[in-house]
Amino acid sequence: MEFKYDSNNIFAKILKKEIPNETVFETKHSLAFKDINPAAPIHILVIPKGPYINYDHFVSQATNEEIIDFNKTIIQVIKNEKLDPERNGNGYRLIANTGLNGVQEVPHLHFHILGGRNMGFMVSR
Ligand code: AMP
Repeated sequence: MEFKYDSNNIFAKILKKEIPNETVFETKHSLAFKDINPAAPIHILVIPKGPYINYDHFVSQATNEEIIDFNKTIIQVIKNEKLDPERNGNGYRLIANTGLNGVQEVPHLHFHILGGRNMGFMVSR
């Protein structure tokens, strides 16, 4: 499978520091920052620093170190925001919109962490 990464996408520009972002957490391989147009009181995006379009691209081509770092970053942000039910948080929604039907706007892998309110039905019907 060939994945064609657009190195001019908006998150690539954030990683190149060409445009600003509100970073909440950062590791060697991952960056977490506030969504510019929040859909919930807490709306954070977590991206790998490497050039991956989607989760398939990432899991098939990233190193194990990158994959572990990214997944642990997501959970660390959830814990930092006190959203995890195991520690009395009220829960959250984790979303990775992918491709056309997933309505992915930015072609760089990102997970949305949404919380701070009841997120309602999973998708519009
Ligand atoms: P998606 O439809 O999953 O690709 O969502 C892309 C998300 O990126 C949207 O929720 C946008 O509000 C968000 N977004 C776009 N540009 C920026 C930016 N410069 N900084 C932070 N979030 C952004």
